[in-house]
Amino acid sequence: MTQRTFSIIKPDAFRKGHTGAILAEIEKAGFGIVAIKRLSISKAQAEGFYYVHKERPFFASLTQFMSSGPIVAMVLEKDNAIADLRKLMGATNPANADEGTIRKKYAASIEENAIHGSDAEDTAKFEIGYFFAGYELA
Ligand code: GDP
Repeated sequence: MTQRTFSIIKPDAFRKGHTGAILAEIEKAGFGIVAIKRLSISKAQAEGFYYVHKERPFFASLTQFMSSGPIVAMVLEKDNAIADLRKLMGATNPANADEGTIRKKYAASIEENAIHGSDAEDTAKFEIGYFFAGYELA
């Protein structure tokens, strides 16, 4: 069944000029782009997005990083989109990511790991709504 997921090209990948290559991988894997935008977020906006991680030791560093430069936020669509994007992304730590995954190719570290993808239906719904208004998804 067609499913939507939410993804971000993170500041490290944007800064290094990997946006086009990552988008090409996403399209090659069969995802449709429902909505897409380049923007910069504040530290407070990054904290709201990652609030589930607020007790983690890396929360301050992660939200600093995510607000350090432009990002590309997008809503993607295909069958099994949530799990398939996670597979295409690879493990959180690029050192553990499989060959051919986006993080293996483009991520520098466990924090600066190039791409975000929702991990479940409920988080996808929250994350899409955090960045996109209903009219942008019509
Ligand atoms: P994801 O679902 O694979 O993105 O991983 P998580 O939801 O566990 O973590 C969210 C994000 O926090 C990751 O994508 C990384 O950018 C960052 N992160 C996760 N674990 C660590 C860590 O141990 N140290 C640091 N500095 N950042 C981390």
